[in-house]
Amino acid sequence: MTTTDSTCSPNFIRNIIAEDLKANKNEGRVMTRFPPEPNGYLHIGHAKSICLNFGIAAEYGGVCNLRFDDTNPSKEDIEYVESIKSDVRWLGFDWGDRLFYASDYFEKLYEYAVQLIKQGKAYVCDLSAEEIREYRGTLTQPGKESPYRTRSVEENLDLFERMRAGEFEDGSRVLRAKIDMISPNLNMRDPTIYRIRRAEHHRTGNKWCIYPLYDFAHCLSDSIEGITHSLCSLEFEDNRPLYDWFLDELKVYHPQQIEFARLNLTYTVLSKRKLVQLVEQRYVSGWDDPRMPTISGMRRRGYTPESIRNFCERIGVAKRDSIVDMALLEYCIREDLNQRAPRVMGVLRPLRLVIDNYPEGQVEDLEAINNPEDPGMGSRKVPFSRELYIEREDFLEDPPKKFFRLAPGREVRLKHAYYITCVGVVKDEQTGEIVELHCTYDPETRGGWSEDGRKVKGTLHWVSAAHSLKAEVRLYDYLFVKANPDDEKNGPDFKAYLNPNSLETLTSCRVEPDLAGATPGSRYQFLRQGYFCIDSRDSSDGALVFNRTVTLRDSWAKIAKKKE
Ligand code: ATP
Ligand code: MG
Repeated sequence: MTTTDSTCSPNFIRNIIAEDLKANKNEGRVMTRFPPEPNGYLHIGHAKSICLNFGIAAEYGGVCNLRFDDTNPSKEDIEYVESIKSDVRWLGFDWGDRLFYASDYFEKLYEYAVQLIKQGKAYVCDLSAEEIREYRGTLTQPGKESPYRTRSVEENLDLFERMRAGEFEDGSRVLRAKIDMISPNLNMRDPTIYRIRRAEHHRTGNKWCIYPLYDFAHCLSDSIEGITHSLCSLEFEDNRPLYDWFLDELKVYHPQQIEFARLNLTYTVLSKRKLVQLVEQRYVSGWDDPRMPTISGMRRRGYTPESIRNFCERIGVAKRDSIVDMALLEYCIREDLNQRAPRVMGVLRPLRLVIDNYPEGQVEDLEAINNPEDPGMGSRKVPFSRELYIEREDFLEDPPKKFFRLAPGREVRLKHAYYITCVGVVKDEQTGEIVELHCTYDPETRGGWSEDGRKVKGTLHWVSAAHSLKAEVRLYDYLFVKANPDDEKNGPDFKAYLNPNSLETLTSCRVEPDLAGATPGSRYQFLRQGYFCIDSRDSSDGALVFNRTVTLRDSWAKIAKKKE
């Protein structure tokens, strides 16, 4: 099993577990669980929870279960179950033979509910959902007891059995815990624990028409599995008394719930409820659209599991909500890809360049190092010829002072190749657009170095026109234009802040021939242009499609400096 890559820093959860181990609580066992609801694809917020649960278990010699919290059949789907399993595996974690479903426990949970009824701690209530809401009261107003609260144990047992048998309509009755209608904690005001819902469940089919609610199912699933530390996000803090109440009343094994702050990231939204809207309303191409903050989107975009795990370790776990800068995530990706991604040359917006004094028909294979960060990655040959492509933006006819790239009469270096000097510009007669450059090269500068010590200020990437491959490149920007699109202060609809320019598709890019036959999912650094990944969905033998994973500009260093 893989743990996080960086050295583990102390945090309050590690401290609690270390103390528990010292006190030999749970006979020295550590067992955690990751409990997703299969109602959407996992996002980077879930990655934080996964790294924490699996990571901490591994650190302390324990295990972590994968448990699907599948108690709401109307929103759940087998497609989500499969995607979640493959995302957790891709992140580098292994649940061994401990794959569970809350639905495996439906019979047992039903028995627990019957036990509560017998103890006089649960009752069948005939109020409508709306009435239940009214009776609950508010933070400033106490609740009111349901008129059905005093039903006898016998009547409750009978009604609950008949709820299960399908005698009543959806929504006509619920089972509620009998706790305290004037509790300052709204969760304790006789919460609903079972409802009637005729919906086909992706695992139990039509066996059940009553389903347990999260608060009831979750603590008991933890208990049944023998979880020691039940880590969940901060919004469940007020549910903890209820978590404890069920386990205490039923006198069963009692795991400890510990809350931590969920991950929020700038320029995106981390909520399946919101992400599903982007998918269903076609603002993105799917759950794995490379602009999505989903694990499958990030994978397709070219992020590595190592960099995501590293990010999760770096942000740490805290007890207070905060928002993490997307630039930090990008920094982690860049740091990892810098070590592992081979360098290649790719021209995104090609401009033809002819070297007038280079022999026609001649081709030289020039040596190009694959990764200056890792000499072990060796080198490759790149064909050089009389007709090349360079980046359109690397030439200006009338350059401003600080422009060190190509201009009329100016000499620059072609990476791994030669010094060239621009001697002519060909324009389209109608539009005035530059269509071709003419240059001369200095044969004495092979490899990109001049023996006479002559210096040039610019180094450009290039490809040979005849040898290069055509490619499509997709450039991505943030999905939202606001750093905090789901902040209610910004208005009711987060979709109003979608970035209309989050995707730019370039269809006439050229890349060096070495990329022929490269496997989908392979990652490269295009010199000066960023890190790119071959799209695993749209690339085929004949069509190369690249996603830009991240640019080379490190905005994190700047932000971190400003914060100092
Ligand atoms: P969402 O709000 O995206 O629907 P959720 O909490 O409803 O998320 P679950 O499938 O219930 O989604 O989540 C499984 C686990 O992942 C839970 O323990 C939850 O606390 C944790 N989790 C979800 N979102 C985040 C986040 N942004 N940061 C950290 N942990 C998260
Ligand atoms: Mg949830």
